[in-house]
Amino acid sequence: MAFLLRGMAADGSIRVVAADTTDLVGEAVARHGAARTAGAALGRTLTGALLLSHVLLKNPQDRVTLRLRGDGPLGGVIADAGLDGTVRGYAHNPEVELPPRSDGKLDVGGAVGHTGDIEVIRSHAPYGDPYASNLELATGEVAEDIATFLAVSEQVASAVLLGVYFGPGGEVERAGGVLLQALPGADDAALDLLEANVKAFEPLTTAMRRAPLVDLLRDELCWGMGFELFTDPALPLAFACRCNDTKALDALAYFTPEERERMIREDGGAEVVCHWCGERRWIEPERIRSLAAEEIRCPDCGTLWYRDAQTTMVREDELCACGRPVELPY
Ligand SMILES: [Zn+2]
Ligand SMILES: [Zn+2]
Repeated sequence: MAFLLRGMAADGSIRVVAADTTDLVGEAVARHGAARTAGAALGRTLTGALLLSHVLLKNPQDRVTLRLRGDGPLGGVIADAGLDGTVRGYAHNPEVELPPRSDGKLDVGGAVGHTGDIEVIRSHAPYGDPYASNLELATGEVAEDIATFLAVSEQVASAVLLGVYFGPGGEVERAGGVLLQALPGADDAALDLLEANVKAFEPLTTAMRRAPLVDLLRDELCWGMGFELFTDPALPLAFACRCNDTKALDALAYFTPEERERMIREDGGAEVVCHWCGERRWIEPERIRSLAAEEIRCPDCGTLWYRDAQTTMVREDELCACGRPVELPY
């Protein structure tokens, strides 16, 4: 099962967050039918969002959204994570597969693109406006982009390691991430040792294949720094979406009644695919037609004015897109 570890080193001056996300990245890759390069980008982003949630969020209901949008063929990758250990995410073009780089690693930077931006959004539920900050991409390799974001936007020096390793059959064999942060008061000797430890460390997923994550933290990355583990047992992680049948039906409200009747006529219903998790839901004709009873539309142009149980889309006395004054029946 996927899990997350939190700890400290160097007398509390180095913060450590690490995750073994093998199972949840495997599930995400399967759900989206992702090729290896796109799957690695998605897996790194999902893992990065989970690590970020533990350094940026305070309340259990808060979420962090991590999005990388570059000029590569992937067309963007996004993940949404929270302190409850759940994460969901997708890549716009999950079929992207590129030749490996000269060092044998998957070309995630080539898939994401080297020019573009990284955006981090903190949502505070149920109150408070989301807080977004963005920055130019550093490399498109995800880990470097997150580390640069934390250094520039949060002014916290951080080392970020992320990896996804595919087995010979194309299955996710190892996936994980480590985030090491120097807190105010960290002394130079500790930072020098940390830097040397990180430099001497193998690629994360290579190391994860030979030793448990907690051993890698204690004996290698935080070697000589008095690593203290705070999470025993480890915190469970899971790929989890918040989509459901009601939201799937709501998605059809964006189509006009005529378009919905055509779906019923031509397809016998409608399939709604959740872009976050890939879940497919079949909506029967009677449920599609139930939408019409909840809608008030412009008699002239058909623009949706109001839907039952939803916030009002237009106000009384505003003008519709066609120029007709809006009249709501109550
Ligand atoms: Zn979903
Ligand atoms: Zn109108």
